[in-house]
Formats: sequence, C-alpha cells, structure tokens
Amino acid sequence: MTIADRKTAARRLTDAKRVIVKVGSSLLVDGEKGRLNRHWLESLVADVATFRKRGQDVILVSSGAIALGRRHLNLNAGKLRLEESQAAAAVGQIRLAHAYKELLDVHEITVAQILLTLGDTEQRRRYLNARGTLNTLLSLGSVPVINENDTVATAEIRYGDNDRLAARVAQMVGADCLVLLSDIDGLYTANPHEHPDAEFISRVLEISPAIEAMAGGVSSTMGSGGMQTKIAAAKIAVAAGCHLCIAKGAYQHPLKRIEEGARCTWFVPSSTPLATRKQWIAGTLKPAGAITVDEGAVRALAGGKSLLPAGVTRAVGRFDRGDTVSILGPDGTEVARGICAYSDGDAARIIGRKSIEIEKLLGFRGRDEIVHRDDLVLLKTV
Ligand code: GLU
Repeated sequence: MTIADRKTAARRLTDAKRVIVKVGSSLLVDGEKGRLNRHWLESLVADVATFRKRGQDVILVSSGAIALGRRHLNLNAGKLRLEESQAAAAVGQIRLAHAYKELLDVHEITVAQILLTLGDTEQRRRYLNARGTLNTLLSLGSVPVINENDTVATAEIRYGDNDRLAARVAQMVGADCLVLLSDIDGLYTANPHEHPDAEFISRVLEISPAIEAMAGGVSSTMGSGGMQTKIAAAKIAVAAGCHLCIAKGAYQHPLKRIEEGARCTWFVPSSTPLATRKQWIAGTLKPAGAITVDEGAVRALAGGKSLLPAGVTRAVGRFDRGDTVSILGPDGTEVARGICAYSDGDAARIIGRKSIEIEKLLGFRGRDEIVHRDDLVLLKTV
C-alpha cells in the first residue's frame, strides 16, 4: 500500500460519525517510572478536539488505571494478584480521570467517566441503560472516557482487556470506526519480534482461521491485551458494521498520523452499523409480542417514520423494553418488526395516546416513539 492508498483508507476515520478510540496502558504510562505520559496525552486530546470540531462523536476507552496506580501503593515489581490490581486500579483511575478532565478542559470539552463491568454489556437491561446514557452524553456534546470497573470485577466476570470492551462499546452505540491505539502498528503474518520476515497486513476483509492464527501470542508489555484480544475485538466490531483499525500509538498526534497515511491494519465490515442492526431485527426468530397499528401508522411507517403510541390500537404478548415485536397492520398482516421502547404493561397504558401524555400516564418521561425508526425494519409486504 502506498501512502496515498493509506490516506484513502483513513477516510473511514475522518468520515466516521462516531469514533471509539482505545488507548493502551503502555502509551499512557511510562513503564519505568509508572508516570503518566502527559505530553503524549495532550497530543491525543488535541486530535480528539479536532474530531469534535468536525462534528464527530468521540468515546475514549482508556486503560492505564492499574499501571498508573500501582506505584502509589508501592506495588512496583512483577505481576499483581487480582486484589492488588483492583487496589491499584482504584488509585490509578482517579488520576487518569483527572488527567483527561484537565486536558479536555483546555479544548472546552466536557468529559464524562463511565466504568463498566462485563455484566453491563452482556445483560440486556444494563446494556440498554449503559447505551442510553452513552447516547445522551454524546448528544449533549461530551466525550465519555470509559474503562472497565476493575475494582469490582472479579476474575470470572471481567473483560481483563480493553480491546474487547472497546468493541462492545462500539457495537453498543453503533459506532462506525474503532481505533485500537497500541504498541504495535498492526497485524503481521507472524510475530515480527520472532520472525523478522513476517509480512504486514494492511487490510482484512474476512477474519478467517488463517488470520486468527497470525495473532499467535503477541502480547503487550504492560496492558493485558495482545494481538489475540485485538482480533477478538475486530470480530465483534466488524459483525456490528464498524471499521476497526490497529495502529501504533506511540507518536505525537496518533490519530492525525493515521489520517496522514501512517501504516496500520484496517478490518473492514461488509455492512454499516445501521444495516447490521436492522438485519439482526429482521432475523429475530420469535418476536416476543405483537403490536397492531392503524392505517395511518402503516402509511407513516412506509414513509420512513417512527411508530408513535397514537397509531397503536393493540398490544399482545409479554415483552420487555428492548425486545423485538411484530408490527401488524389492521388486517393482522405483519408489516414491520422493531425493538419496542416500552414493556407490554407500559405499552398497554400509552397506546392510542399522544406522546406528550406519556409522562403523565407512566410517571416517567420515556421515549416519544414506541418503536424508533432506527430500530424498525419494514417487511416486504408493505
Ligand atoms: N482496565 C485496565 C486498566 O485500566 C487495563 C486493561 C487493559 O490492559 O486492556 O489498567
């Protein structure tokens, strides 16, 4: 690939609406002294500010809490026990958050901290809550900084690496680009430290077993992720329609550098986040319930609108917020399928009513739409 080709490939980053940037511990923290690489972080934050000015949403998934905290507890040498790394994370996270706040303040960007556990991304109700909060923070213009909640995550229920966590976050918020800033510039046919003749791979269209085999056991010196967790992350991201880039971060302005044509590996999805989500909705084998709508609503849906409670005449079945439901026309044929923003009980109370009445009827201010158009797929019969 020439520089010009690499610059073209990097348009995915420049043109992305929503970007997730994962920052590895070895970039953030000086290994010897255990101190924050502040100068480097300033340059990353300046890149983030450029993205924000262009109108892109940015989420940072930042490691470094453990690496940063251990020195303060005199846990200097060797591998830490789980409780020790949890203690180090508690000490390091507050410093990390403070550094991000200070540096983003310079650009008048409001930072928000979110600490997630595995359960928050795997259990539907918590997943929906985390997604809702992230979407709200982004829509209000802030930059969320996410890390795993290491202090409470126990061995069996933790990610342990932020590569996969970042990919789940990308999937959660429908990001179109995820950059893993790492201590290696991308994927090679073999471990380049052991095989100097290993070839660099610039683009992966399909994560085949051969690609997985290339990940071998390349590991990072400080963080928990190696190439294997990056490939696992790529699988999650690509399946969600999100581009993923593995790039070496140990330079000033690491994001700008990618846009200027630095070498990196791109994993390319075959679909967009929205299309992937819609395929997933359409493919639901057994919708949990059915919502019948009137003629006017059928027309509105066909015209690309969301489904409002006013157009619904009946709701049957047991479903929860976030479940897929069938949407039936007045004659009972299924016209669409979508993710319902309300449980069956709440839906029953608001059907046929105006959206402004929702708060009075339910006691909380939920979404105006019972099924939002991004969560809705029209079936061919419409
Ligand atoms: N959550 C860990 C930390 O903040 C890092 C995990 C990783 O290395 O990816 O220190």
